[in-house]
Amino acid sequence: MTTPTILLVEDEDSFVEALTVGLNREGFRVEVAQDGATAIARFHEVQPDVVLLDLMLPRISGIDVCREIRKHSTVPIIMVTAKSAEIDMVVGLEVGADDYITKPYRIRELVARLRALLRRAAMEQTVGAAPATNARSLVIGDVSLDSDEHIVTVAGEPVSLPLKEFELLHLLLSNVGRVLPRELLIDRVWGADYVGDTKTLDVHIKRIRSKIEPDPSNPQRIVTIRGLGYKYERPAPSMRP
Ligand code: CA
Repeated sequence: MTTPTILLVEDEDSFVEALTVGLNREGFRVEVAQDGATAIARFHEVQPDVVLLDLMLPRISGIDVCREIRKHSTVPIIMVTAKSAEIDMVVGLEVGADDYITKPYRIRELVARLRALLRRAAMEQTVGAAPATNARSLVIGDVSLDSDEHIVTVAGEPVSLPLKEFELLHLLLSNVGRVLPRELLIDRVWGADYVGDTKTLDVHIKRIRSKIEPDPSNPQRIVTIRGLGYKYERPAPSMRP
């Protein structure tokens, strides 16, 4: 890969300085924006390969910057939060970031995540665009789902999913690679006024796993994110068709 350009959106000078030095050393070209409005303008000017976006920013928040960028672009975005509790909030709002990191973090960890996102983006460019939310037809690895025909296949073999399991899988596949909080999954599939036991969600996940996981006792597709929710893992390159 040629030198990737990162748009660093961060209002604190000390972070900007340290990150610019660290990321330059790691082979990134760094463009800086120190408030939300500038971030949006700079995004269009520099067309970065990846965006590191602080949540708390003057003028326009990181959440709104992320939403604005997502109207035009599928560029990888890492959202930076000050407390891990903020991650829950941001994930719950579904602002469309690809990854989240909490301050303080080590530059080595950040760079590893940046590289992973860039690899993924490069892969998606070669195999086709990432699936859009609410797509009628989704293919992730060897799992495919068609919501018009209510059909799910695994490696070409049809599997039978009742409505709620189907809706849950649709939601997870539509957001492949993203952590979906439990509350959000329950809201979307059972409705915001659902008063039943939240174990219902886990039971449904278990049933789906028994149908789509090669080894349901060791799930590789629908993974549990402890304390948060579930995520449908992006398939490894070798699992791609
Ligand atoms: Ca800040």
